[in-house]
Amino acid sequence: MNSMRLSMMTGIALYSMLTTGCNEQTTAQTDKQTTAGVEVQSIFPKGEKGSSEYFTGNAYANALVPADSTYATLVGNVYFEPGARSNWHRHPAGQILIITDGVGYHQIKGQARQTMRKGDVIQCPPNTVHWHGASPDTGLQQLYIIPNTEKGIVEWMEPVTDIQYRNAD
Ligand code: MN
Repeated sequence: MNSMRLSMMTGIALYSMLTTGCNEQTTAQTDKQTTAGVEVQSIFPKGEKGSSEYFTGNAYANALVPADSTYATLVGNVYFEPGARSNWHRHPAGQILIITDGVGYHQIKGQARQTMRKGDVIQCPPNTVHWHGASPDTGLQQLYIIPNTEKGIVEWMEPVTDIQYRNAD
């Protein structure tokens, strides 16, 4: 396994959001992050910034369950700032995304872009080229689950262009 890819994935991670305009609970805010006017509520620590080699914009990753011989399953959280997204990539054993806050996009190559919102659960089939990230105005908090890590974790490809991101192609 490519150790750089592994550390990147275990290093990609988390946070959630509410619009500041709608949030009246100004006295009870903890672990929230404001980016471009959108407030994001976190469940887990923010983690480390993902490499620009694999992400456009700012994405942060926090590993929650490391892949080991007992579980062979990688679990972590990623927070995408507004406009941030992954490169195109695929997971040899697939991936499950659980959206815990915010608004974002997911697209399988050759299919329509999908909008993801808090509470959505997305299944990315094995070896299926796709990308995921935040919407332009609101960030995204996603938990990811990668099973059967003995088959591999992620194979990175080219960046998602602005035209692809805007669903304008
Ligand atoms: Mn993925």
